Amino acid sequence: MKTGTESKSLLEKDEKYLWHAMKKYNPEGTLISAKADGVWITDVNGNKYMDGLAGLWCVNVGYGRDELADASAKQLKEMPYYPMTQSHIPGILLSEKLNEWLGEEYVIFYSNSGSEANETAFKIARQYYQQTGQPNRYKFISRYRSYHGNSFATLAAGGQNQRAYRYEPLSSGFVHVSPPDCYRSPFSSIDGECCIQAAEEIDKTITWEIPETVAGVIMEPIITGGGVLIPHDQYMKRVREICDQHGALLISDEVINGFGRTGKPFGFMNYGVKPDIVTMAKGLTSAYMPLAATAVKREIYEAFISNDDEYNHFRHVNTFGGSPAACAVAIKNLEIMEEENLVKNSEELGTWLNEELQDLRDHPNIGDIRARKGLLAGIELVKDKQTKEPIEENRAAKVVAGCKEKGVIIGKTSDTVAGYNNIITLSPPLSITKEELQFLV
Ligand code: PLP
Repeated sequence: MKTGTESKSLLEKDEKYLWHAMKKYNPEGTLISAKADGVWITDVNGNKYMDGLAGLWCVNVGYGRDELADASAKQLKEMPYYPMTQSHIPGILLSEKLNEWLGEEYVIFYSNSGSEANETAFKIARQYYQQTGQPNRYKFISRYRSYHGNSFATLAAGGQNQRAYRYEPLSSGFVHVSPPDCYRSPFSSIDGECCIQAAEEIDKTITWEIPETVAGVIMEPIITGGGVLIPHDQYMKRVREICDQHGALLISDEVINGFGRTGKPFGFMNYGVKPDIVTMAKGLTSAYMPLAATAVKREIYEAFISNDDEYNHFRHVNTFGGSPAACAVAIKNLEIMEEENLVKNSEELGTWLNEELQDLRDHPNIGDIRARKGLLAGIELVKDKQTKEPIEENRAAKVVAGCKEKGVIIGKTSDTVAGYNNIITLSPPLSITKEELQFLV
């Protein structure tokens, strides 16, 4: 590993002036990135790393895409900013394109981050019910181990309580149920049944909470940051039925699942369901620009425009959401994904990745490998295969640090309270080649 004087001085300034997210997460030291191309990052000292996590699960088309820089520059010169209280060309065209990707008619509300997209979804859902004669519906059901963002409401929705611990009390009205975790399920051990029973818990919980108080159920089709939990194919379908039976909205958090990560344009498309609200960010621009969106079915939108009461429109403004350059980058990003068949690449290489990883099954410290859908994998490390006792946190951290030493960046879950700090995560750019993926494996 090369080091240099320039990097030493940068590191000193970094330590003096910069407050990093999740410092504890990087015990192996700070990587000061300098440039990147494809799936490779180069640090200030010239060391090269394969980015097996696509930044934070977001650089879907890979690094070094001049077309995205050009799209941004062109738009910044032509029309750098105009608020979404009015409109602009890239905003309109991107909404049309998102409808193509979603395969159904949705109306799009823009913001800047996944947290905001989910926060927006909660506000829309509550107001929708107030304006359609069911004002008592304010609660949301979500799953333990999920992550939906860092704001007070999205933290409350998330099910990783160590993230919320120092910031409570959070927004009220969020009720948690078990995730579809087949490896550590408290339910039936028969394949598929554990997931159906996890879905039935949602049904039971809505009943206990009184259905007339429940506005929606939020879920990532595949829980990603919580350890890559891939449910049985029938799980989300059953959740959709439960939502319909109880009159609750189904909100699909596609912040990571969306834009090809799970081998389909959106995660919910793996399961043959149609959500009422879809939230997205990260892969929307492949993180070249901050942009997020909350897509709602037209029936929901209609409740906000068909009534001229002063309080019945959506009183929710953000200055930067849907900025023209971010929308222009998103359009180009989706065009690249289409031209290069990156969703298909994710599906096909994901299948291959799953097969390759199976060789690790016999390793005494590997309890479970979850990698059936797209370029996404969770490898659960255990101390003992029989008892499934999680491996010590520092051992999982050593794996991450050891990979970095070998020039590969991978992720790891960080829930130290519930003991899920032992899952290695992979989520490379969808533009990765088979040879590069072989190296990652
Ligand atoms: N939802 C999911 C599933 C996420 O993984 C994340 C972030 O990792 C978010 C929401 C929040 O997105 P952001 O960090 O852009 O606010």
